[in-house]
Amino acid sequence: MQQPLRIAVVGSGLVGSLLALYLKRAGHDVDVFDRSQDIRTVDFSGRSINLAMSTRGWKALDGVGIGDAIRAIAIPMDKRAIHAVDGSIAYQKYGMAGESIYSISRGELNRMMIDLTQSEGVNFFFEKKIWDVKLDEAIICIGETERGAWEELKYDKVFGADGAFSKVRNRMQKLNRFDYQQHFLNIGYKELKIEANSSGAHRIDKNSFHIWPRGEFMLIALPNLEGSFTCTLFVPFEGEYSMESLKEPADVQAFFERFFPDAITLIPDLLRDFFHNPTSSLVTTQCFPWTYQDKVALIGDAAHAIVPFYGQGMNAGFEDITQLSDLMQLHGDDWLQIFKDYEQVRKPNADAIAELSYRNFIEMSTKTADADFLLRKKIEAWFTDLHPEKWLPLYDRVTFSHKPYVEALEIGDKQKSIMDEVMALPQIADQWQTAQVEQLILSRL
Ligand SMILES: Cc1cc2nc3c(=O)[nH]c(=O)nc-3n(C[C@H](O)[C@H](O)[C@H](O)COP(=O)(O)OP(=O)(O)OC[C@H]3O[C@@H](n4cnc5c(N)ncnc54)[C@H](O)[C@@H]3O)c2cc1C
Repeated sequence: MQQPLRIAVVGSGLVGSLLALYLKRAGHDVDVFDRSQDIRTVDFSGRSINLAMSTRGWKALDGVGIGDAIRAIAIPMDKRAIHAVDGSIAYQKYGMAGESIYSISRGELNRMMIDLTQSEGVNFFFEKKIWDVKLDEAIICIGETERGAWEELKYDKVFGADGAFSKVRNRMQKLNRFDYQQHFLNIGYKELKIEANSSGAHRIDKNSFHIWPRGEFMLIALPNLEGSFTCTLFVPFEGEYSMESLKEPADVQAFFERFFPDAITLIPDLLRDFFHNPTSSLVTTQCFPWTYQDKVALIGDAAHAIVPFYGQGMNAGFEDITQLSDLMQLHGDDWLQIFKDYEQVRKPNADAIAELSYRNFIEMSTKTADADFLLRKKIEAWFTDLHPEKWLPLYDRVTFSHKPYVEALEIGDKQKSIMDEVMALPQIADQWQTAQVEQLILSRL
C-alpha cells in the first residue's frame, strides 16, 4: 500500500473511471471531475455507440475484479462476417479456437464503471469543467466559462483522463520542449442502426463483427444486447462518394443500393439516421512527455488518441492503467520514478498502435474481401498450428495477447515480408500446405 494521497482525475470516461478505482484500491482519496452530465442520467434512446473489448482491456478490468460484471453486458464476436455486394457473407474466424472480441455499449460500460467505482468510495463531480491546471502545485481550476471566475482545488496529484482534446494536456503544451501533433483522417463516420426483428432477436449473426468492405469506404456493425446492431459508416469527407457528395436523400439511397444493397433492408431508418446523426471526424494525437514532475500525468486518449480501425483505443488506455499500477507496486511512494517509467514504457507502444490502427483501415476496408489476403491468413494459421511458438499472426498479437504493441509492429512487418515471399511462389494458391513453404518460413525467421 502506498502512502495515502489526495488525487484528482479529470474525466469520468472509460479510462478515468477505471483509473480512479485502481487509485482508490491503492489507498488514495480520489475525486473525479467531468464537464458533462452524469452519464447515468442521460437517456441514450436511439443511439448506442459500441466498442470492441479485447484481451488487454479485460486484464485491466479483471485486475480490480470487475471483469465478470462487465462480461455480463458484453457479446462475444468470434469472427468477422464479410458482406459482399451480391449479398453473400463469408465468415473469417478470429484467433485460436475460443478467442473472441466483445461488443459492449460504451454508455452501459461507462455507467457500470462509474457505479462500481463510486460504490468503493471514489467521489464523482459532474458538470464541472476544468479549464486549467497549475502544474507545479497540482491545482485544478474549475469554472462555468473560460473567462469567468474559477475555483481552485489543490491535490497531491492530477491525472488528465480528459480525452483527445484534453485541457490538462493543453496546459502541458505550453511547456518548453513539449512535443505535440495531431492528424485528422480524411474520413468521417456516421452511426446508423439495424433494429431487432419483431421478436426482439438479432437480424444477422450476433456473434460476428460485420464488415461491408468497399475500398475507400466501409460499413461495420456490432451487436447490442437488446437485438439491435450499431452500424458505423466510414466515408471520405470529399471525393466521388463522400460526405460532401451524399447531400440529398436520393444520393444516399442510390449509394446504398449500389454498394450496400443488403444493408438497406436491414436499416429501416437509413435516411433518417443518415441525415439526423452527426458526421464525426477521426483524429490521431501524439505527445511527449506525458508527465510533469511527480505531480501530473496524462492517460488514455489524453495522451494518445488513435483512429478506431484496430479497436484498441480504450484497450490501450486500459493497458496504461495496468502498467501504471504495476509500477506503483514496484516503486512504492517514489512517484517521480513511477511517472518516468510509465511514460517511457507506454509512449513507444502508443505510437506503435497508432501506426497499426492507421494501417488497419486498408486491411478492413479492402483486404478482408481480397482472395490474396484470405490465402495469406490461411497459410499463417496453418503455420501457427505447426509452430505456435514461432508465429503469432499480427492481429492475434495485438488483440489476443499482452505482448507490447511495439513488438507487434516490428514482428508484423517482418512477417509481412516473409509472407510476400511465400505468396510469390508459383502455384501457391493450390500448393501451400507443403514442406517447401514450411521450410521457407522457418529459414526466414
Ligand atoms: C468510432 C469509434 C470507435 C471506437 N471503437 C473502439 C473499439 O472498438 N475498441 C476500443 O478499445 N476503442 C475504441 N475507440 C476508442 C475509445 O472510444 C477511446 O479510446 C476511449 O473512449 C478513450 O477513453 P478516455 O476515457 O481516455 O477518453 P474519453 O472517453 O474521451 O473521456 C474523456 C472524459 O473527459 C471529460 N472531459 C473532457 N474535457 C474535460 C474538461 N475540460 N473538464 C472535465 N472533464 C472533461 C469528457 O466529458 C469525458 O467524459 C473508438 C473510438 C471511436 C471514435
